[in-house]
Parts: sequence; C-alpha cells; structure tokens
Amino acid sequence: MSPQLELDRRTLRLIAIAFALLAALSIHRLYFAGLPEATDALVLQGRTMGTSYEIRVAGDGLDESLRQRVLSETRDRLARVDGWMSNWNPESEISRFNAFRSTSDFPVSSETAEVVSFALELNAISGGAFDITVGPLVALWGFGSHARIDSPPSDEEIARLRRHTGAGALHVHRDPETGEAYLRKRDPEVEIDLSAIAKGFGVDQVAEGLEELGRRDFLVEIGGEIRTAGERPGGGPWRIAVERPQDEGRAIQEVIELQDRAMATSGDYRIFYLEGSRRISHTIDPRTGRPVEGGPASVTTLADSAMRADAWATALMVLGAEPGLALAEQNGIAALVLKRDAKGAILERPNALFPEAAGPPTRLPQRG
Ligand code: ADP
Ligand code: MG
Repeated sequence: MSPQLELDRRTLRLIAIAFALLAALSIHRLYFAGLPEATDALVLQGRTMGTSYEIRVAGDGLDESLRQRVLSETRDRLARVDGWMSNWNPESEISRFNAFRSTSDFPVSSETAEVVSFALELNAISGGAFDITVGPLVALWGFGSHARIDSPPSDEEIARLRRHTGAGALHVHRDPETGEAYLRKRDPEVEIDLSAIAKGFGVDQVAEGLEELGRRDFLVEIGGEIRTAGERPGGGPWRIAVERPQDEGRAIQEVIELQDRAMATSGDYRIFYLEGSRRISHTIDPRTGRPVEGGPASVTTLADSAMRADAWATALMVLGAEPGLALAEQNGIAALVLKRDAKGAILERPNALFPEAAGPPTRLPQRG
C-alpha cells in the first residue's frame, strides 16, 4: 500500500473573501469613481503549524505601520503557541510532557492547561470520539509527524497501542494558591496530540492580538480554521465559503455569513491515502483504534471560539451526522455535515443552528 494520493494540507479556503472583496471593490469603484482609491483591507499571509495563515484587517488606518504591528504581534503569538502545543517542536511543552514517562505533576502554561481541559471536556461529551491521546494510533496509521506506512497495522499492534490511549489517563489541575497549572499522566506511556484543536486555538490567539491592537473588523484563518470579528471591507458580515469536499481542484459548496464567530472544517478529502477503493483518512475513531471509514466527507462547525469549532469538527467526523448533529446542537454548536451518496454526489446535512446559505455556489475565484 503506497500513499497514492496525499495532498499537501486540508484547508477550507477563503475564496469567498476574495470574492466579497472583489464585489465590495466594484461597488466602491462604482460609487467613488473619480476619487482617489482607498485601501479596503490589509492582507497578511505566512506559515505556521505546517500550514498557511491569512489575516484580513478592515476599517481605518490600514497603513504600513499597522501592517508591521500586526505582523510582529502575530508572529510572537504564533511562536508562543508553537512552544506550548506543537508535536513537531521537540522543545514544546507538549513534546516534553510526552517524553516525560512519569505520573508526577508536570507544570505547563495556563494556555496549554486551558486547551487540554477543553479537550477532556469534549472527550466526555462526545463519548470518547474526540480524544487527544490518539497520537500513537495516528502514527501507527502513517499520519502526523511520522513516516508513512507500507501496510495496514495488525490487530495486535492496534490493541497494544490502545492500552495506552484514552483521555481518562490524563488529568489537569491548578494549584489553588499559586494558580500554577499542571498536567498529570495516570499511565506514564500516554501521549498528547493537539493537532485537532491547536490551529483553532492559534486563531483565537491571533484574534486576541488584533483586539489588543484596537482592531474591531478582521478575519483570521490558519489552515482553514477561521475567526471573524465585526464587518468585512465595505460593511456587512464576512462571507466565507464552505469548500466542496472533492479530491481534485477546489470548488465552493456554499457561502455563509459570519459576524463575531469562528468556523472550522475537518474533512477526509485533503489528508488521506487510498488502499484499493478504501479511503484511509487521518481522523481516528478512538473507540476502534482505526481511521474513520464511511463517515462524513467534511464537517463544518461554528462556535464562539475557533478552538471549540476546531475540536467539534473533528468530533463530528468521528460521530457522523447521527448522533453528531444533534449532540452539537445541544451544546450550542452549529454544524453542517457533507456526505457522499453512492454515486459520489454531495448531500448537505445541517443542524438547526447552521445558517442558511448567503448565496448560491459561485465560480471559484482566484485567491488574492
Ligand atoms: P485538520 O488537521 O485537517 O484540520 P482535524 O482538525 O480534524 O483536521 O485534526 C486531525 C488531526 O487530529 C489528526 O491528524 C490527528 O493528529 C488528530 N486526531 C485524529 N483523530 C482524532 C480524534 N478522534 N480526536 C482528536 N484528535 C484526533
Ligand atoms: Mg479539528
């Protein structure tokens, strides 16, 4: 089994933003023809966590000095997130905790404790579907920061690793006097993989930085996880495209409007390989120790923070439309599950909290 198809990264793209910008620009030109051109948005791009990020700032004062301040604030914050939560950085808190084969307290930043706490909470809510201890199984199946595999693992190997997974083997607590945060393993072999939640948390951190700089209208995206604040250039909510899950090329499934909300997407169409006609995706069902099969093609979730949206999207990839959509709804999470029917056509399954499409699917514009 050789990886036949492995696309660089899964992302939900901000194509609609470019589209909205173009639309706003043409209206702007229409109304302000003859006047000197105003800048509509400050756009910054870079790379972090093995993927790309993009920031769009609207409003006043979009000058070079702001660009520099946003850039430096963003880089500082992303470097901190990397130092806390990256499995690729051997010096990060998480990597050092993973290497720490002991059941004693391990001091961590309050941010790492916050993310791990939420992950444990969602583990309980989702009946174990979301589980940050699946890392060894992710590696066993040839994903993550590890080498690809040549053949599927044996039942024995899966069973052996499953003995050291399960969020029940993790504990987070704070010293009531000092406020210091600690992680603790109940099983010294257990490891943490925050890949399904750290990008969302990174988005929230960058958004916080923009707020600190006094910005009210912006959009932050890291590898498809998004947070919006205020209005898009030209006014009105930000318009975001939900990508159609397909193996080649990019297309828009629908466009939705977001104001002061976060959105995340997980899917089986960016990071996977084919074994015959079976699609082996990087989402592991912790209850079986195997990649999810026959599940959603993608899940898009909306929440008040990108961290929550990100984690819930992964949880719903495991749970599927049933019981995932109802569970999300009970927890205030808007969700859209896209499924393939027998002929490969995409079916939409939203829960009641998911907004109506703001417009018909549009032609894919070039990314700005
Ligand atoms: P993406 O990285 O494409 O945005 P996700 O947010 O769904 O996708 O994260 C997938 C990653 O999360 C996997 O590569 C793996 O490291 C980890 N993971 C896989 N299955 C689970 C799970 N059931 N619970 C938590 N994390 C998972
Ligand atoms: Mg996720």
